[in-house]
Amino acid sequence: MNQHEQLREHVKFFNELGVEGVSPERVWIARPVDTAKATEAVDQIRKELGDCTRCKLHSTRSNIVYGVGSPCAELMFVGEAPGRDEDQQGVPFVGRAGQLLTKIIEAIDLCREDVYIANVIKCRPPENRNPDSDEIETCKPYLFAQIDAIRPRVVVALGAFAVRTLLQSDESISKLRGRIFDYRGAKLVPTFHPAYLLRSPDKKADVWEDMKKVRSLLRQG
Ligand code: URA
Repeated sequence: MNQHEQLREHVKFFNELGVEGVSPERVWIARPVDTAKATEAVDQIRKELGDCTRCKLHSTRSNIVYGVGSPCAELMFVGEAPGRDEDQQGVPFVGRAGQLLTKIIEAIDLCREDVYIANVIKCRPPENRNPDSDEIETCKPYLFAQIDAIRPRVVVALGAFAVRTLLQSDESISKLRGRIFDYRGAKLVPTFHPAYLLRSPDKKADVWEDMKKVRSLLRQG
C-alpha cells in the first residue's frame, strides 16, 4: 500500500469510528519520569521470565510475546494472548487485530511507540483457543509486574479475558465496559477486543466512546 492509499485507509477508519478530527498537538503526553529506572524494571521482569516452561504452552509456542512499547508509557493496552502472527514475530498485536489496534491508538493522536502493549498470557494457545485458567494463573504475575514497573496512568483492557483477569471479576465485558475502574494506581477502561470489532464492526462506535474517555483521562494530567 502506498502512502496515499494508507492515508485514505486511515481517514476511512476514522470516519467509521466517528472521529471528529485529529490534533497535531501531542504535548499532553509529556510527563517527567525516570526512563532508565522504568526500562531496567521492565527488562528485569523479562529476564525473570527467561525461556519460560512454567505452563504447557511452552511446548507449542515459537516465541514468547513479552510486550512492546515505551516502558514509561502513560497508556497501556492489555490483550488476551498472542495469535499466529504474534507467535511468529514475538511482538503483540501485529496481525489483523493488531493493525486495527494501531489505528485505534492513532485515533487518539498517539502512536504505538508512545504506549505499552502486552497480553494476559505470553504464549500462543494452540489454534488460538481460549487461555486455560491454569495458564492465566501462571502468567498473570508477569503482567502485573509489568504494570507496576511501567506505572501507566490509564490501562485499557481489551476484551473479556483482559478485564476479568485485571479486575478479578466474572462479569461479562458488556457489563463492565462503559465504566472506569481504579486499578493499581491507574484508571482502567474496559473495551471490546479489536478481533471482536473485526467480526462486529457496529461496535466501533462504542470503542470510540471508550477511547475518548481514555484521551480525556490522559489530558487531565
Ligand atoms: N490478540 C491478542 O489478544 N493479543 C495479541 O497480541 C494479538 C491478538
